[in-house]
Amino acid sequence: MGKRVEIGKTGIHVTPIGFGANTIGAHNLFQNIDEDVSRETLRAALAEGVDFFDSAFMYGLGRSEELIGEVLAETGSRSDVILATKAAHIVTDSGVKLDNSPTFLAESVDSALKRHQTDYIDLFYIHFPDGVTPPAEAVGALQRLKEAGKIRAIGVSNFTMDALSLANKDGYVDVVQDKYSLIYPELEKDMIPYCVESDISFVPYTPLASGLLTGKFTASNPPQDFRKERPHFQGQSYIDIIAKVNSLQILADKYDVSIANIVLATTLSVDGIDVVIPGAKSPEQVQSNMQTLRAALTRDEATQVRELFK
Ligand code: NAP
Repeated sequence: MGKRVEIGKTGIHVTPIGFGANTIGAHNLFQNIDEDVSRETLRAALAEGVDFFDSAFMYGLGRSEELIGEVLAETGSRSDVILATKAAHIVTDSGVKLDNSPTFLAESVDSALKRHQTDYIDLFYIHFPDGVTPPAEAVGALQRLKEAGKIRAIGVSNFTMDALSLANKDGYVDVVQDKYSLIYPELEKDMIPYCVESDISFVPYTPLASGLLTGKFTASNPPQDFRKERPHFQGQSYIDIIAKVNSLQILADKYDVSIANIVLATTLSVDGIDVVIPGAKSPEQVQSNMQTLRAALTRDEATQVRELFK
């Protein structure tokens, strides 16, 4: 087993390259999801030594969690891995609502346990604030589920800085998950320093900027799916980012890894970040992302990469 790190102060230890499962069985979010590929990708992750899986009810309306549970049962791996998941959404024919009420969170944990075929979730996040439930009350409900042994650690995701400080009034928040990458460093200003001061681990989502930071796209070959509508995938911004990404090839050659590995290793060098959870759509992507563990960037190199994108 390779290097393992503690997630904040949770007592939970993982390999620092986790698995973001938002495409696994996620028929509601992506087109042409093939569940056999999802299963193969999960099996490849386990075979590669991935031991931290990040899911949510919203990824396939429970299907991502179910497929993770299925593959863990098939491989007998539940006790070898750390399961993180999230809830807040109620999806009906008339739309999507958010709910952070204690009753809803307790029911969500119970249903996530069933879908994962387990009797504890290692890390349970409130996926989005509902804007109604006082944040400390919602987190207090998770604290009671922690005391009952149903979850081991408490997370919040997509909270503003103000909502986070309210949520952490009693010091119960263990992990914050929010959007952060080399091209989206905004949370370095306040949220990440707050996490460092408060012994909270910050888990960045979209660390590869949805594939933009992998080096596989070129100026003349942008993605042709939903991503082409996003600002960073258009115009001069896209051209500039691609040029910066390509310039990382020198470091990638030095460590004999990919550009995506350099990006993930740089992200892991940020104070407050213990683990990354790149999404992977295929066994090859999981295998490639795990090579990040070989990229032992110096502090100066990591700083230079971060500065390049600012
Ligand atoms: P990401 O990690 O920045 O990008 C993942 C995408 O990049 C993959 O789906 C794949 O897409 C491409 N990719 C990954 N590895 C690659 C490789 N080695 N080579 C080439 N392409 C590669 O974005 P993300 O998956 O959206 O975010 C990561 C995780 O964060 C999610 O899976 C989820 O668990 C979590 N998340 C949480 C929230 C939240 O609200 N809390 C929001 C978003 C995400 P293609 O093959 O299609 O290019």
